[in-house]
Amino acid sequence: MNTPKRYTITAALPYTNGPIHIGHLAGVYVPADIYARFKRLTGNDVAFICGSDEHGVPITIKAKKEGVTPQDIVDKYHAIIKQSFEDFGITFDNYSRTSAKIHHETASEFFKTLYDKHEFVEEVTQQLYDEEANQFLADRFVTGTCPKCGHEDAYGDQCENCGSSLNATDLINPKSAITGNVPTLKETKHWFLPLNKHEEFLREWILKGHKKDWKPNVYGQVKSWIDDGLRPRAVTRDLDWGIPVPVPGGEGKVLYVWFDAPIGYISATKEWAQQTGKDWEPYWKDKDTKLLHFIGKDNIVFHCIIFPSMLKAEGSYILPDNVPANEFLNLEGNKLSTSKNWAVWLPDYLKDFPNQQDVLRYALTANAPESKDNDFTWKDFQARNNNELVAIFGNFINRVVVLTNKYYDGIVPEPSVFSEVDETTLAAVKAYPAVIESSIERYRFREASQELMNLARLGNKYLADEEPWKLIKTDEARTKTIMFVALQIASALATLSEPFLPFTSEKLKQILRLAQNDNKVSSSDSTKENCIENLWTEISSKDVLLPSGHTIQQGKPELLFTKIEDQTIQEQLDKLEASKKANEAANKEVEPQKDTITFEDFTKLDIRVGTILEAEKMPKAKKLLVLKVDTGIDTRTIVSGIAESFTPEEVIGKQVTVLVNLAPRALRGVESEGMILMTETPEGKLVFVNPDNAVKSGLPIS
Ligand SMILES: [Zn+2]
Repeated sequence: MNTPKRYTITAALPYTNGPIHIGHLAGVYVPADIYARFKRLTGNDVAFICGSDEHGVPITIKAKKEGVTPQDIVDKYHAIIKQSFEDFGITFDNYSRTSAKIHHETASEFFKTLYDKHEFVEEVTQQLYDEEANQFLADRFVTGTCPKCGHEDAYGDQCENCGSSLNATDLINPKSAITGNVPTLKETKHWFLPLNKHEEFLREWILKGHKKDWKPNVYGQVKSWIDDGLRPRAVTRDLDWGIPVPVPGGEGKVLYVWFDAPIGYISATKEWAQQTGKDWEPYWKDKDTKLLHFIGKDNIVFHCIIFPSMLKAEGSYILPDNVPANEFLNLEGNKLSTSKNWAVWLPDYLKDFPNQQDVLRYALTANAPESKDNDFTWKDFQARNNNELVAIFGNFINRVVVLTNKYYDGIVPEPSVFSEVDETTLAAVKAYPAVIESSIERYRFREASQELMNLARLGNKYLADEEPWKLIKTDEARTKTIMFVALQIASALATLSEPFLPFTSEKLKQILRLAQNDNKVSSSDSTKENCIENLWTEISSKDVLLPSGHTIQQGKPELLFTKIEDQTIQEQLDKLEASKKANEAANKEVEPQKDTITFEDFTKLDIRVGTILEAEKMPKAKKLLVLKVDTGIDTRTIVSGIAESFTPEEVIGKQVTVLVNLAPRALRGVESEGMILMTETPEGKLVFVNPDNAVKSGLPIS
């Protein structure tokens, strides 16, 4: 395809069982948004499509755990996720959801078409079944050992360790995720998509056709899949949450979530077309449309093998031109994990860093896991902000604006003769749109973001070298020329930064009072030719971006970026440290049961309710308190190792449980007659075991 007529850009449908975190943003949504914004900015017809993935087993498990309905779960997270995308400036043309009626209809119809074309294989097979829960166990309902890599916590549909896609019956030592029981096998009928039938087409299309233009990580995974041999894949499930199977014998069954989810891209496009009065079909069926799927690496098989096989089998759809999947982002050296709360959640980020969306977008792009897994660290985040956004980009703009206001009341000055340095600098600026475009077109967003920063660097260096603040005293004409050149660079930055730093770009356009050109193509039959004049290409084609006499915003300009202090970063690190501690505590093993004792053994223990009357610290002993305890029998001294958890004042008057017939022993010269019963939390805090109502001291416990 030489010049696509339009772009259909999809971003992986987030699964609605939790909010989204920085890993999602870095892996999928920021790169997809940069691409979509860039395409719009260069005058293209774009449909940027996403939505919530609301079916499947994990949602039903979460609903069960929380005692609510699956609908409650998806409603809650759909709203949270949608809000996060809006907050971070992800410009979807439509953010839909797979529970929408239009999606149920579209997916149902799609299945029906394949069914009518005999594209499925119908098979009665043995599936894992939980007798106690009365339920078939597919996907996440079952865990066990991965037959490929030996990982012990693989799911029934996928091993998260080696990325293998599995059938539940492949698992070694399967266990029900509902009851923990060992499942039995029971017969059930399902529809399978015979991927083996599509192997030749996939080889031809991807392995031969996209060897050069697909990312090596994507191509490599697809190749190993195909070389491994493709097998029929069940596209229906015994479950009550999802889209009902619309054919005879489908009662009580739903479409497999991975069958219906990618069709969500199509339904969301339809919904958008309805809302905007467009025709959805060219976006999915015209060969001059460039279809792109932005995803993370865990979704490669679904977007490169299963969904294309479905589209091919249906017959009327185009196939993706590229699937620029990213690898994973880690956090401070560890895998991001929802269940372990090892993540930076987007709503939390915005609370801690209000109005600093662009800093995160930039840090994630500059360090994007494009070709291998990468690590997000708060130190790097701070460095990207302080050393690049503040010290280079922000500093340059601030100098330009402050000096223009100071010297010329905010009016762009008239240049005189350009020096060689001026000419070289202006020529360099003109080259940037093509340089950045080339990186974006190859899905190298980190490289593109660095080129943008290089332009700011160029401006910063130009000002530092030319020193207009010195020349203003001696050479007015030269100062005017320098400021004119610097203002041209600032203007180019305002436009070229839009895909990467949209909030900053907006502010900068306001500061420079740049015309807010609407580059959106208004009618669907527009071709690239009639919208060639756009702000992006103007930077290369026009000699003057900000003419002499143009007035920029007057007064002290708003700072685009502010320094992030060490203390702020430390607070984030402390948060993560707390998560780590909580995880360790939660994973602490329960001590095994001790040897059995007889009832007689037990009756030997004389345990009573006591009341602490006095307490003081044992001199020179960190852990010990000396207590006077009313046991009902007497008032006695007990030395207790609780001083690190309680002050003496805290325990006076407390009712406690005392083992009174323990042989007395001397602790640091003080005789202790008995023992106060305590337990210890995983965090190491001691807790009293005491009666839940005030009772008389001396009552026996049995
Ligand atoms: Zn595995």
